[in-house]
Order: sequence, then structure tokens, then C-alpha cells
Amino acid sequence: MQEDDKFALSGKSLAELTDFCRELGLPAFRARQIHSWIYSKWVSSTDQMTDLSQAIRDKLKQVATISKLKIAHLQISKDGTRKYLFELPDGKLVESVLMSFHDRPTLSACVSSQVGCAVGCTFCATGYMGFIRNLSAAEIVDQVMCIQRESGKRVANIVYMGQGEPLLNVEPVIESLAIMGESVGIGARHITVSTSGIVPGIRRLAQEKLQITLALSLHAPDIETRQEIVPITKKWGLPELMNSLRDYAETTGRRVTIEYVMLAGKTDSPEQAKMLADLTADIHCNINLIPYNPTRNPEGQLLYERPSLAAQQRFKELASRSGKTVTVRLERGTDIDAACGQLHNVFDQARKD
Ligand code: SAH
Ligand code: SF4
Repeated sequence: MQEDDKFALSGKSLAELTDFCRELGLPAFRARQIHSWIYSKWVSSTDQMTDLSQAIRDKLKQVATISKLKIAHLQISKDGTRKYLFELPDGKLVESVLMSFHDRPTLSACVSSQVGCAVGCTFCATGYMGFIRNLSAAEIVDQVMCIQRESGKRVANIVYMGQGEPLLNVEPVIESLAIMGESVGIGARHITVSTSGIVPGIRRLAQEKLQITLALSLHAPDIETRQEIVPITKKWGLPELMNSLRDYAETTGRRVTIEYVMLAGKTDSPEQAKMLADLTADIHCNINLIPYNPTRNPEGQLLYERPSLAAQQRFKELASRSGKTVTVRLERGTDIDAACGQLHNVFDQARKD
């Protein structure tokens, strides 16, 4: 069997592995053994599954492979952040990031949910790529497994903040959340899904009543600015969006996160800070300010600038006046373009070619 036609074991749920074994004429307990080799022992070859008979291992080798994500490139930042460029079986490229923080003992992985993104936010490198395709649940989960196998380190937190808009790929994302919990062993409270504000997706996710954190990329409290920088605002306006978020927090009982990108002269005025405080006052939320990370548009221009530290501080104080906790996001991996909004492999590749 061609490598491409083989069944990838990593990233699959126990139910999928059980179906796969049944098709091979193997009993369910074989699926549980394979599941444990993949998710507890992080094996990189079916040969390592030593409690399976040689005959079963030979059979598996013919029809299955551990993973179909190939590490095409790995960059390591001065701060230890690792950025993985994965090649998918169809040749498409996608990125994931492994981050460590000085004040936390655990590691966080940032995963992609799509190749490219259709939303087209004006400050985001992924947005410049346009939409290429959705990732399957297994392709999302396998990013974390590949990172663990490569680094030898256990990932404890996951953020869906890589390439793509998770809630425009909502069913596979929900499926992947279940596998992250049941198979990878990462509890819902250690997972954050970030969305640019896809109202039907927020309502769909609410039905699952998960204990994950939902983060909304709000970025502007006034409709004019938001329409300009997050174009889907034309489809789902601010009142509709804030209602869906309020309902989400009530249905799930979970505090949501409001993300706010600080673009100098565009989203960082004192008036906007006050509007942000008012807009979020009756929502059970924290606010996370993200100073803009430089990204070039396809013409090579830098469209925005990061506000000064003084302006960031002033904004933070005004935004917290309704009593919300407001934090400024610690950036990781800016030197290797691994920080928020800098994931844009197509351009990276084009520059190298
Ligand atoms: N599509 C989802 C998740 C991926 S982006 C979303 O938009 O929420 C993860 C976060 O990084 C989002 O809050 C996004 O707005 C932010 N971001 C994108 N480009 C950025 C940039 N250049 N500087 C800082 N943050 C950026
Ligand atoms: Fe897509 Fe999120 Fe980037 Fe906007 S910020 S273009 S939604 S990945």
C-alpha cells in the first residue's frame, strides 16, 4: 500500500481505532492497546508496539502509519518557543507553536484549525493567505502529538490560536476537543478556543456546554473600526455578537476571554478603552490586550504599529474601570515569526524559494 493511502493512527479517537481494528478482523482490546501506545507512550513506529504479535505488527505496518504530518521545518526561538511547519499529505503546509513561560512550569501548544483563513483581518498574516482548506479533527489533534513526540515534552495547555478560524470548521473542532480530553489527556479547563466572532459557531459550541475557555477576538469596541479590521463584522454586527457571547457565558457557566489587539492610532485611544469597558461590563469575562506583532501584507508593507508602553498602560487602566481583570499578553517567539498573527507559511516558503 502507498504511504499516502495508509491509515494514520495518531489523532484518532478510540472509537475510530476500534472501527479500524474491526475492519482488520482484530478485537476491540487490540484498539485499546494501540491507543495506549499512541497516546501514553508516544511511539513513532508500529514496530514499537511490543505487546502485539509479530503477525499483527506486520499487518499494521502494511496498512497503517503513526502520523501523516511531516515536520517540514522547525524553528527554535531565543526564548525557547518552537515553531513547527507541518506538511500535510496533500502537500499543504500548516503551523503549530510550542510555548513555555517563565512563570509557569507547564507547556502550551498553539494549534491550527484550518490551512489559511477566510476572515481576512487586516493585521493578520494568516488572513493574507486566504482560505485553503479545513483540517480534520485528527489533523488538529495530531499537531499536539507530533509536538510531544518531537520535543519529548508533555503539553499541558492548548490554544486554538494558530492558523484559521476554528468556528468556521466547527464540527471537526468540537470532535478534536473530545479527543484532546479523552485520548491526549488534556482537560477542558486547559483548552482555549479563539474566534473572530462567528455567531452561529459560538451558538453551536455553547450547546456542547464544555468547560473550555472561549476567547473572542473583539479588537475594537466601535462598529466602524471593527468593520475595517475584522471584515466579518459586516455579517454579524456587534450587538448580535455580544449577545451570543453573553448567552455562551450563561449557558456554559464559564468566564470568557475578550482579546483586543492594540494597533497604534487605530484601536488604542482612551475613548475606545472606555467603550471597551462599557461594552463588556455585563459579560462574565477577562480582557487580554495583545500588542500588535508586526506582519507584512502581500505587498511587503507594515500596516500598523504597536502602541508605546505608556499608551498600553493607559489603555489597560481605562479598560479595567468596570472592574474586569485586564492583562497584557506576553509575546513569545517574535524573532521567528511565531507570535500571534505571524503564522503565514506560504509567504515564508515563497521567500525561501
Ligand atoms: N482565528 C482566530 C484564532 C487565531 S488568531 C481568531 O482570530 O481569534 C489568534 C489571536 O491572535 C487572535 O486574537 C488574533 O486576532 C490575534 N492576532 C492576529 N494577528 C495579530 C497580530 N499581527 N498581532 C497581534 N495579535 C494578532
Ligand atoms: Fe483569521 Fe483569526 Fe487571522 Fe482574523 S486573526 S484572519 S480570523 S486567523
